Amino acid sequence: MKQKNFISKALCALLACAACTGVSAQQKEYPKQEQMRPGMSEYWTPQPKIVTPGEASERAAVSAPSDAIVLFDGKDLSAWESPKGEPARWIVKDGAFTVDKKTGDIQTKQKFENYQLHIEWRIPENITGTNQGRGNSGVFMQGQYEIQILDCYNNETYVNGQTGSVYKQTPPLVNAMRKPGEWNVYDIIYSAPIFKEDGTYRIPPYVTVIQNGVLLQNHTAILGTTEYIGFPKVVKHGAGPISLQSHGDPSPAISFRNVWIREL
Ligand code: MG
Repeated sequence: MKQKNFISKALCALLACAACTGVSAQQKEYPKQEQMRPGMSEYWTPQPKIVTPGEASERAAVSAPSDAIVLFDGKDLSAWESPKGEPARWIVKDGAFTVDKKTGDIQTKQKFENYQLHIEWRIPENITGTNQGRGNSGVFMQGQYEIQILDCYNNETYVNGQTGSVYKQTPPLVNAMRKPGEWNVYDIIYSAPIFKEDGTYRIPPYVTVIQNGVLLQNHTAILGTTEYIGFPKVVKHGAGPISLQSHGDPSPAISFRNVWIREL
């Protein structure tokens, strides 16, 4: 009984103390959270070294191997759709397709987890603009995580927004751009995240990116979703599409060809 009284008295004292602390916490002034702005997650140095890749080819770099799913064979966009599930309306011509900025992003109808993706892209010869407003597009893995596409040939930008960056996260190891008018080749090896029950990563997504035969990302851990403003978020998801970005910058639109994927 004595012990019970002691415990209840101790509990009362503790509650009184907590109430007391509550009052003082309310009165205490903390600094206001600063409003996040895009520039807060952009950094410009050190700029990755420029590496001149091997010569570009007029023909596709390598055609699809026997076990690949062909996502674009030069003829039509039947493997693609708009995010709303409508037909993909980008422009198919001469074995390639070109972004139609009026119609927005496109994505594969099929959803994927772990894969090796091959995709070729070309900045038009008449490209204009500077910084992020020059041939901006991107490849999104599982609809969440962007590998940047941009004309970084004689065009500087923040390094974690360069071609081959995990956008706003990890800069590329080097700059292996070909000049506008020539085809660039991306080979992307991606492994999907595994989530814990609470929605955080047990294993984060990882990505390796090779541009024109030159390594840009070496099994890089992805920190979370691609955010233009603020920090990456960890959002639980399942299999997702490959998405291609229709960026709002006014420069001439870029083209793609020879797209295939091997599930791993
Ligand atoms: Mg982009």
